Amino acid sequence: MEKEALSVLAILVGLIIGSFLNVVIHRLPRRQEIVFRPSHCPRCQAPIPFYLNVPLLSYALLRGRCRSCGARISPRYPLVEALAALGFWMAAQRYGLSFHAGAVAVFLSLLIALAFIDLEHMILPDELTLGGAGLFLAYSFVHPEVAQLDAVLTGIGAALFFAALFYFYLKVRRIEGLGFGDVKMALMMGLFLGLRRTAVAIMLASVVGVLVGLFFIVFRKKDLKLALPFGPFLALGGWAALFQGEALLAWIASLWGLP
Ligand SMILES: [Zn+2]
Repeated sequence: MEKEALSVLAILVGLIIGSFLNVVIHRLPRRQEIVFRPSHCPRCQAPIPFYLNVPLLSYALLRGRCRSCGARISPRYPLVEALAALGFWMAAQRYGLSFHAGAVAVFLSLLIALAFIDLEHMILPDELTLGGAGLFLAYSFVHPEVAQLDAVLTGIGAALFFAALFYFYLKVRRIEGLGFGDVKMALMMGLFLGLRRTAVAIMLASVVGVLVGLFFIVFRKKDLKLALPFGPFLALGGWAALFQGEALLAWIASLWGLP
């Protein structure tokens, strides 16, 4: 397939999946039916007709308001659609029209859904973390970039690392600095990324997480026990490490004069 045609296809599929991810993000934490209930306004329950359910375009045409009751539609909707389109485009750029590009798209979709659910509800649903872990355990048999032993050991290792942090916070600082959902999300990510990229992902997540935490403490005068969800940072780290992890490791090695 021509490169331009593949890019257009990836972006269109990404927009449609992004639209579905919005439904998952809204309904999964509220335990609502995901597949069979048609789209509706969360405030007035007015159904959203299919011609007003076009990703990005509808939000722009309706200027971010429900057509029936005028309720504000969260900017999360176009943001998630744009992010999914970007992710699918990046997957197609890197891996072409391949089965692995599809697996990468699934991984990025899970990261997007988990990040936004965690931001809003401070939870990481098992359906996505453990469901994804099961999926990527199966995929580790055919993963073209990560050996199966690497995937399994990294998944378990990352989960144990976060479990240790979880208990450290709970015992020593007597706060829930991390949720147990982060442990399961680390398992899912380790199974797909393998050791090298998972190390980069956790490193990036921690650095960005600390910087954002400091920003809130300094500029918003929040206290030190401020609870920031860690899922969005893990998602950001995982996304960056997937595409640039190897390059970043090579750069760090070159700084130290390593081969
Ligand atoms: Zn409405």
